[in-house]
Amino acid sequence: MQIIHDFLTINEYSRPARKLREVLAVVIHWTANPAATAKENRDFFESRKTGAGGYGSAHYIIDQNGIIVAAIPENEIAYHCGTSERDPVSGRVYTDEARQRFGHYAKETSSPNNCTIGVELCPIDNAGNFTDATINTAIELCADICSRYGLNSGDITTHHNIVGWKDCPRLWTNKPQLLDAFRASVADKIKRG
Ligand SMILES: [Zn+2]
Repeated sequence: MQIIHDFLTINEYSRPARKLREVLAVVIHWTANPAATAKENRDFFESRKTGAGGYGSAHYIIDQNGIIVAAIPENEIAYHCGTSERDPVSGRVYTDEARQRFGHYAKETSSPNNCTIGVELCPIDNAGNFTDATINTAIELCADICSRYGLNSGDITTHHNIVGWKDCPRLWTNKPQLLDAFRASVADKIKRG
């Protein structure tokens, strides 16, 4: 597992330098841009420091080649799964799953960003397919995070499962069984060490 540490400049919009309160889950995303590398996605987060591009970031971005770019230190908040819009199923701001997992963090006055690590995967097409290299690295990274924070593979979820109106990652939103398969691979990796 190769990690390039390339942390964002501290700024209000993508790296607020606020401490993560605790780690309750890993949230998987897709970058939604098959043309951009992990480094380019990191640079996009960096460009938000001017305020012109709104809020948004993630801790890790995994390239199509399987190499990880670390954009935010794990002990700081990234802006990856907050929302002020309502989930179409529950009619509330976060999903029922988010409320179960995160309790008081899944409220309009707080955010699951306070208690989650965000991992972005770079897709190869607009359907959201990933390379084996990306998925294999994601399995390794998630197993490592779970081991270090006392989590299990069930604590890996998706942006869509937290913020219902987001199709992120798109392929796993359309095929939820892919998240199940991913969790099984992470569980296996944790077991084998
Ligand atoms: Zn997302």
